[in-house]
Amino acid sequence: MSEETIKYETFQNPKGVHDVLPGDHEYHTYIKKVVRHRARQAGFKRITTPVLEYTEVFNRSIGLDSDIVSKEMYTFEDRKGRSLTMKPEGTAGIVRSYIQHGMNQWPQPVLLYYFEPHFRYDRPQKGRYRQFFQFGFEIIGESDPALDAQLIQLAAKIYEDLGIMDVFSIQLNTIGTPECRKKYTQALEDFYVGKERSIPPEFRDLITKNPMRLLDKKDEDLQILAQLAPSMKDYLDKESLEFHEELLSYLDELDIEYVENTKLVRGLDYYSKTVFEFWDKNEGSQNAVGGGGRYDGLIELMGGQPTPAVGFAAGVERTIANMKREKIRVPSKDELHVFVAQLGREAKKKSLPLIEELREAGVKTMGALGKGSINIQLKIADKFDVPYTVLIGLTEVRDGTAIIRDMEKGIQETVNFDDVTKRLVELIGKGNLDKYSPDELLYS
Ligand code: AMP
Repeated sequence: MSEETIKYETFQNPKGVHDVLPGDHEYHTYIKKVVRHRARQAGFKRITTPVLEYTEVFNRSIGLDSDIVSKEMYTFEDRKGRSLTMKPEGTAGIVRSYIQHGMNQWPQPVLLYYFEPHFRYDRPQKGRYRQFFQFGFEIIGESDPALDAQLIQLAAKIYEDLGIMDVFSIQLNTIGTPECRKKYTQALEDFYVGKERSIPPEFRDLITKNPMRLLDKKDEDLQILAQLAPSMKDYLDKESLEFHEELLSYLDELDIEYVENTKLVRGLDYYSKTVFEFWDKNEGSQNAVGGGGRYDGLIELMGGQPTPAVGFAAGVERTIANMKREKIRVPSKDELHVFVAQLGREAKKKSLPLIEELREAGVKTMGALGKGSINIQLKIADKFDVPYTVLIGLTEVRDGTAIIRDMEKGIQETVNFDDVTKRLVELIGKGNLDKYSPDELLYS
């Protein structure tokens, strides 16, 4: 062998995607628990659609003119030349699945929730990634403003549970039925035509393609124009107005605060009537944490029977960022209870079944590492911050005992080997054990 060692280049993750390291997983786990709990209380069942769908699923549902479809999709051909896309959002795939599996034969409405990664080729920046997690809910098969109200309430409850609802305001609007929206869109087009000079070039084609999207752009000139533009309110038909008023009355009944925002349109084509977003009170729409709305026409557009529906999706990374900013701590169940240190081959042999016994009893245990002295192993135990260490040396093997050391107090006791688990369970406390419990799964 040559003296020279090869130095390989290291790798970084691709731009815009990131590792979820253990520290953040504690947040993921906690958020998932809260979502699952609230979802179950309201009768939602979990669904996972594949990361990959045929591209047409998104083209048709989200709309070719939307930012997502026109600029942000991860689309590629598979080996047979079929166009596939990594899901940029959850609703389109779920609607595809609803139709494919004949869910219209299930008791209606069908209530589904998800917690999944999504992919958008967006310009990475704070709070905007190319792979991000969303949790979301869909209520498919019923048109009733009481469902819109319950969905908004469910989302608000989750944010209350996570300790950050105070940070958000609920922005609410109705964009009416497709019929009245058509008239409104025409009025907007008439309004914007001739004002091209005040509209940044990259947005000009929206004047004819989708002028409603000009209303919620951050650009200052566009915001001034939006103030002067015709208001959706004047174009709403009776059906949309009544639906919206009923929704407002339910939200009032539920004591849910909201801000009526006639400029809120949401970026996707498939919405109708109710649209809403959860905005940071300080940052406005910049870092919305979640949003949703009614999509009564989508199932038919995707080839199913006409079926009303309403949904909501929230970003997990932005939720975590808000929790961290508000100094919300999540319970960590990852900390170890016990480190088992041993000296010599015989001691190591005895320690392996002991570690197994401790783990079975719900004591989070690590050990039987290496061949270092007891002191070196105690240092390792210190680094892992365990409250207790079990020491098994030559004397203990001979006597059939073990030493239990309280790492904080620095005191230790010798116990019979067979009593180690019992004694540690006493010291740690039954309530702190990590045991699989159907009760916990159901109620925590
Ligand atoms: P949308 O349906 O696009 O409004 O997305 C719903 C929520 O998902 C947003 O409010 C964000 O919290 C989150 N989200 C959307 N796109 C991204 C992204 N590129 N990176 C991180 N979070 C995102």
